Amino acid sequence: MTKKHLQTQIIHTDYVPPEGFAAFPSAIHHASTVLFKNVAAMRSGDWKEKNAYTYGLHGTPTTFTLEARLAEIEGGTHCLLAPSGLAAIAMCDFALLKSGDDVLLPDNVYGPNRDLSRWLTADFGITARLYDPMIGAGIEQLIQPNTKLIWTEAPGSVSMEVPDLRAICGVAKRKGVLVALDNTWSAGLALRGFDLGVDIVMQALTKYQSGGSDVLMGALVTRDVLLHERLSMAHMRLGMGVSADDTYLVLRNLPTLKLRFDAHDAAARKVAAWLKARPEITKVLHPAFEDCPGHEHWKRDFTGAGGLFSVLFDERFTEEQTDRFVDSLKLFGIGYSWGGAHSLCIPYRIQAMRKHWKEQGTLVRFNIGLEDPDDLIADIEMALAGMAAR
Ligand SMILES: *Cc1c(COP(=O)(O)O)cnc(C)c1O
Repeated sequence: MTKKHLQTQIIHTDYVPPEGFAAFPSAIHHASTVLFKNVAAMRSGDWKEKNAYTYGLHGTPTTFTLEARLAEIEGGTHCLLAPSGLAAIAMCDFALLKSGDDVLLPDNVYGPNRDLSRWLTADFGITARLYDPMIGAGIEQLIQPNTKLIWTEAPGSVSMEVPDLRAICGVAKRKGVLVALDNTWSAGLALRGFDLGVDIVMQALTKYQSGGSDVLMGALVTRDVLLHERLSMAHMRLGMGVSADDTYLVLRNLPTLKLRFDAHDAAARKVAAWLKARPEITKVLHPAFEDCPGHEHWKRDFTGAGGLFSVLFDERFTEEQTDRFVDSLKLFGIGYSWGGAHSLCIPYRIQAMRKHWKEQGTLVRFNIGLEDPDDLIADIEMALAGMAAR
């Protein structure tokens, strides 16, 4: 070939770096276009095969690596990444539900999942019905011939009820209904969804896997090839691409996942135990504590606990007072999400959120970060004193 113009040379370099480079971190592969060796390779490439690359949206070595590692953690075989936890939930619904189908969701389900189900009902001809999270085997009465999917969440991420997953999965299996589990609270470490009979495990990687409060990402894990293929079709059709840099951030923090999770767990139990002894607090809604509905299921099925729990303030405190409590905390940020190093605290108007909520008093949710728990307790003690003083 004749010597190329500079403008072409800038684009088509002949340089190839030396082979044999090795390092612990996964490489960050940025790609929309994926190059084929020749036309024959292009024609034979199948995007569903994770051993062939066809287009950036369908996977790169970076995303395949994270998917494989997440599947390992959950005890599954296949995984798909999505741009957020909510996108993973939507991918599951669009893959498995069609017009005329029915889906069941717990009354304490992650709010945007509930909102999505309302949209499915309003515009897509899919009925979505809410069930009592403590329903257990009673879910049998709700299953209709057109019920295709049961969402579960263990525990509910605001009111913290721990469902009887074994009972729900047992009934679902007999009836041929798929069960999806939002396993974010346990990070895939403290609850083995597949061992209990769950078909699809969903993770908001935004939380513990990322650990840095800086990434939005989600995942669906399965251990059934046919189910994985149905999810893959939705992944492709909905264009669920994730960025290589975000994927790298999650991969980078994965080796410390269990150390961080265990530290969150220990600190949260210490803070929760301290709150349990306080006269301002009527209930500690932490799965490892007896106040929490479904505590017996946590004892039976879980090997640990996350850093997220809620408390109920005595009803003698007005919302104005509990808001002041949250506002005056110095070490707790006011914000959604969790799983990062920083502690968070947020009040919920739970009575307005739930149809059958029977408890009185303001619900306040704590995400215990990685600070020293004694400093967090001192901060809470200061804020409680300020709240009661006026
Ligand atoms: C945060 C969260 C999600 C959604 O994750 P995003 O990445 O924020 O969309 C889903 N379920 C639970 C329980 C969560 O806490």
